[in-house]
Amino acid sequence: MTVEVRCSFCNILSEEAEVIVQKEESSICADCLNLVKEIVDEFSMGQVFDERGKCSFCKKEHGGERMVFQGEKARICNLCIVEIEREMRDVKRGISKAPAKTKNQGRVSAKSRVREGISELLPYSVPHIECRVKLDGNESPFRLPDEVLKRVLREIGEIPVNRYPDPDATVLRERISSMAGFPSDGILVGNGSDELIEMLMRTFSGHTGRVLYPVPTFSMFRIIGISLGLEQIPVELDGRFDIDIKATLREIRRKNPDLIFLATPNNPTGNSFSDDRILEILKNSDGVVVVDEAYCDFSGKTFLPLIEEYENLIILRTMSKVGFAGIRLGILFGRSDLVSEVNKVRLPYNVNSLSQRVAEVVLENSAFVKENVQLIIRERERVYRGLKVIRGIEAFPSDANFILFRVKDADKVSGELIKRGVLIRNFNSPGRLENCLRVTIGTPEENDEFLKAVGEIIS
Ligand code: PMP
Repeated sequence: MTVEVRCSFCNILSEEAEVIVQKEESSICADCLNLVKEIVDEFSMGQVFDERGKCSFCKKEHGGERMVFQGEKARICNLCIVEIEREMRDVKRGISKAPAKTKNQGRVSAKSRVREGISELLPYSVPHIECRVKLDGNESPFRLPDEVLKRVLREIGEIPVNRYPDPDATVLRERISSMAGFPSDGILVGNGSDELIEMLMRTFSGHTGRVLYPVPTFSMFRIIGISLGLEQIPVELDGRFDIDIKATLREIRRKNPDLIFLATPNNPTGNSFSDDRILEILKNSDGVVVVDEAYCDFSGKTFLPLIEEYENLIILRTMSKVGFAGIRLGILFGRSDLVSEVNKVRLPYNVNSLSQRVAEVVLENSAFVKENVQLIIRERERVYRGLKVIRGIEAFPSDANFILFRVKDADKVSGELIKRGVLIRNFNSPGRLENCLRVTIGTPEENDEFLKAVGEIIS
């Protein structure tokens, strides 16, 4: 409430302050709130919050989740810090006036109960544009071969869909186990690796509640982290889109993140991170290091054998990029004692019976998958060379099934491609991805069409 009051922490008058929020007889200005937050962020809770005392704002005693920060004339608890910060933000954005003493005081609208950070988030969105040539989703362009499709259809006909699926996906996990040479009690499957990322964040956020990842990277690390109320520690990649190891180790030392996500090959940049930098992170982190190998089939590299050596290493894989995006199947590998903790937050029957069965069948008949991957790798190199010779395009080397490239005017190029029936992903936004576009490798014919169209547009 913007009233003529003084901040109980710095004594500034409301006239002179940007915003002051008053509750009961205590007030705090935006600057003091930021300062308190900065102090809290810099140190651990135990160092800055008092052992005893009542919060001057909510009048509740310290205890449980509530801990109080002692100012000169007032105390504020960690829960009020969050609540007042949200109120201030709404006042600044003109969404609400500062809380007035009305008869509704004490009532909180449903909308304002949205967890901090979520209102500012944009949903993960992939614009749905119908195009003849679809090269925007990092999917495989190849459908199931006829004979495998027939088997899949036969097997699906046998599924009792009136019954719940096997909650533990036992057969599927056994199959993955024998293919990967990894014990099945260290394997979990999810409804896409997106679900596994969420399960990991829910499980391993109990010490500092912080999650670190290099940027730019896969946007769901940030979206899921924020939606769960975790503190984000994004660290810029270096000039070659590799891990900035000095900055990363500094942040690990300073902030001790519970979780670190490293997508290698990285999306959307396409490159693999240097092995020695990933190892350096593993050696220097107590937190869980998740190596997301969504695109490892196209790079031929994996950190899976290192799980034996590093107990905090988790590997994520997905079937989405090699021909099965529609069944949504992600795979997690880790030490069984860690995996059994993650398994506790898994929702019952998270992988439906159709997806389980389809995955079992295609893993049994996977020769065609390997052939398709080899073809995509050859095509990737051809498309890369094709982009390199177009003046006005800067193409970045890729170990994945897509290529990131920069043009002078990405919005124009992307729009013109759509007019010609070719859909790719536009990443244009201020910063590292300014004027960047990402093309997924398609069939040879689709790639030809893309190269021809982009060449015409740019020249
Ligand atoms: N990790 C990375 C690096 C990705 O690029 C993607 C898909 N875009 C995923 C995870 C999610 O994959 P899934 O389809 O298995 O949820």
